Amino acid sequence: MSNVPRFWRNLKRRYNLIGTKCLNCNELYFPPRQLCPKCRRASKIEDVQLKGRGEVLTYTIIHSAPKRFEGQTPYIMAIIQLEEGPKLTAQIVDCDPTEIDIGMKVEMVFRRIQEDGDAGLIYYGYKFRPIAN
Ligand SMILES: [Zn+2]
Repeated sequence: MSNVPRFWRNLKRRYNLIGTKCLNCNELYFPPRQLCPKCRRASKIEDVQLKGRGEVLTYTIIHSAPKRFEGQTPYIMAIIQLEEGPKLTAQIVDCDPTEIDIGMKVEMVFRRIQEDGDAGLIYYGYKFRPIAN
């Protein structure tokens, strides 16, 4: 049972979109980093809660996917710039592939990522959806 705290810590990170901030230079990172590449040994790293809102910088419509994602095609993968600055790649959901646009405002949602059929395990993670005006 010694790995339970780590499990919960990882879960908290995954469900809260936690990034890190270097208190030395104020740079924000996502995914979290142990060390600031600018400050290196002078890094002062702290967890920060990201709001999970941002806009689409660029996107791709995926028409053929690995077998375990087959039922989901076509789907949209986008590079999103978070309001806080960091960029990340995520799937856009609740959006028709003809509706996606650069500059679209999006927000994070938690969705099923994949299901491991044999073990019955379901993995959740963050995806993004358009912010309704
Ligand atoms: Zn730094």
